[in-house]
Amino acid sequence: MQLEDYIKAGKIAAEVREMVRKKNWIGKTVYEICEEVEGEIVKRGAKCAFPVNTSINEIAAHYTAEPNDPITIKDSDLVKIDLGAQINGYIADTAVTVCYDPQYDGLVQTAEDALSNAMSMIKAGVKASDIGRTIEATIKQMGFKPIANLSGHSLEQYTIHAGRSIPNIWSIGGFSLSENTAYACEPFVTTENGGGFVRNGKIKNIFALNSRKKTKDEQADKLLDFIWERFNMLPFALRWITKEWDEKKARESLEYLIKKKAVQAYPILIEINEQRVAQAEHTFIPNENGVTVTTL
Ligand code: MN
Ligand code: MN
Repeated sequence: MQLEDYIKAGKIAAEVREMVRKKNWIGKTVYEICEEVEGEIVKRGAKCAFPVNTSINEIAAHYTAEPNDPITIKDSDLVKIDLGAQINGYIADTAVTVCYDPQYDGLVQTAEDALSNAMSMIKAGVKASDIGRTIEATIKQMGFKPIANLSGHSLEQYTIHAGRSIPNIWSIGGFSLSENTAYACEPFVTTENGGGFVRNGKIKNIFALNSRKKTKDEQADKLLDFIWERFNMLPFALRWITKEWDEKKARESLEYLIKKKAVQAYPILIEINEQRVAQAEHTFIPNENGVTVTTL
């Protein structure tokens, strides 16, 4: 556990998130947003831990821009901008919801409140299920619903989802937080008409390497090496490949690698009743007396 690098990545991710929160994104395309936010991370001396997610309205998570993606933010949209910075593979994962329609201010604020209530109870030994209980209670008190099948997660070097889940609802059993382990907590909140669950959508634009086993297709194997060298096992987007590859060739080989199971494609996640979803997220490291929130 490389505390110094976690802290450095956290500081950068937090700075960029606050820039994202203050900026007016209306009229910008998701392509412009992703590129700008990723540029801010790199400018500060970190690498991106995953492609910036710009998930709009009922899309809860896992949408990132396609190359030159024309989808444009409207003044009625609610957008979850989820970003990750990494230093030597030590990751800071944080998110903010931007929304210019005051009708949804309560939804956005509730995600923030659930997160800060969760953060204020953290120290080593706290049960993850109790964090879930706090998040769920905070959200229900406001008349909203938590997304039950999305959760926070433990982090390890070059691994975003490292095996442990921090639930957004109370659940039986579970584990207790360890000292000197990094976790992300990320409450997702939907309206009272929401189902409180997400389903997989058809669109898949975030990918990650599964295996480095060669496929015997020369062009696909070249892409395999490119992905490993640039992104290790961390998630990536097609946008990141087409900066150096012909788009048609990149798509072709990426499809092939997915078919060969060398690459995994992650679908977007949509609220089952197509209700809007807000999110807030911090990365934190518990200690004996409390917690270091790296992305504060
Ligand atoms: Mn995140
Ligand atoms: Mn996360």
